[in-house]
Amino acid sequence: MKVATREQVIRALKKVFEENRIVSSQKRLRELVSSYLKKGEEVYHVSEGRLRKIAIKEKLATVEIYSREGNPEKILAKCPVCGSNLDEIKNLTIWGEEVTIEYVCQTCGYWSGKRKRIPTKYVFHALSR
Ligand SMILES: [Zn+2]
Repeated sequence: MKVATREQVIRALKKVFEENRIVSSQKRLRELVSSYLKKGEEVYHVSEGRLRKIAIKEKLATVEIYSREGNPEKILAKCPVCGSNLDEIKNLTIWGEEVTIEYVCQTCGYWSGKRKRIPTKYVFHALSR
């Protein structure tokens, strides 16, 4: 099995989002994109996560993020949606200690409070070019 190049994925995503303003899940997006990643008998592979990150970083779509609450002890180093660095919003406790109360991603709009939001479903909205 061959892995699709970034350029192949971007081309396929553009086609998909020209034809579909809304794609209701990551699985569906991968199905739609895969139909454009065939060349004869050859099918080029792309994972759902990679597809999502490329769609966001290339500004081809925005994501609506559905999530459940996760472990408050978990440290969030990178955005779980797009892999970008997260901005930490800090607050001072009454004892003057700095605590992170919220994480925000400037790239895709993911945010999380103390109970880390774990993404469970994505809806993609095409961005007009
Ligand atoms: Zn993000």
